[in-house]
Amino acid sequence: MKKIMAANWKMYKTADEARQTAMALTTLVGAVPADREVLIFPPFTALHAVAGALRPALGFSMGAQDVYPADEGAYTGEVSPGMLSDVGCRWVLTGHSERRHVLGENDDFVGRKTTFSLAAGLNVCLCIGEKLEEREAGMLAAVIERQLDKGLKDVPGDIAPESLAIAYEPVWAIGTGKVARPEDIVEAHALVRAKLVALLPSAGERIPILYGGSVKPENAAEIVHLDNVNGVLVGGASLQAESFSRIVLA
Ligand code: 13P
Repeated sequence: MKKIMAANWKMYKTADEARQTAMALTTLVGAVPADREVLIFPPFTALHAVAGALRPALGFSMGAQDVYPADEGAYTGEVSPGMLSDVGCRWVLTGHSERRHVLGENDDFVGRKTTFSLAAGLNVCLCIGEKLEEREAGMLAAVIERQLDKGLKDVPGDIAPESLAIAYEPVWAIGTGKVARPEDIVEAHALVRAKLVALLPSAGERIPILYGGSVKPENAAEIVHLDNVNGVLVGGASLQAESFSRIVLA
């Protein structure tokens, strides 16, 4: 399975800054190794600029950070899967912890976004992960299972495994500098894998599981080679082309 090295730029960068970072990244990375794939998730306002910058670069794809589950309509401020495809997105994130915990999205809404986007032809990276108080209360497995149950509720059993990815991002490790220990990552990813196989028997073994939360050039190589880790989703350390290129090649 290819390793997916993904950059989530969150609410950073003007269109011009994003274009320049994307161009610098393609230069620094050069030919993407055959066993790797690079995904960039810029803010909506920079999608067009980044699509232009990435077009000539093999091995790079782009996605959006969010989506609304309808084709079109009176949904002020929202963006449909078709609009994202139109501007060059192949991927979309659903369920990122900041959407769940800052913007108040619940599991059911995340599931609707996931199913609708897949049906509309986008690849989806569904983000899950427990909060610190949930981990401390011994609820790791329960949270992972609930978020996958609801997030993948209406996903068809015959889904192509390459159209879906799961990003396990423990909330307490996001933007805090506190990276999960290798044994924590291996434990959580094994839980995710088992649940994926239970929910989607024909695809579950081949759906990539990414780790996210304070991934840096210094720790990326160790993380990406752990059991059931099929890539990383990087926030802060993806904003500079120099540091993200080192992660991509780690
Ligand atoms: P950091 O890499 O900044 O911890 O963010 C992780 C993340 O939320 C990626 O989606």
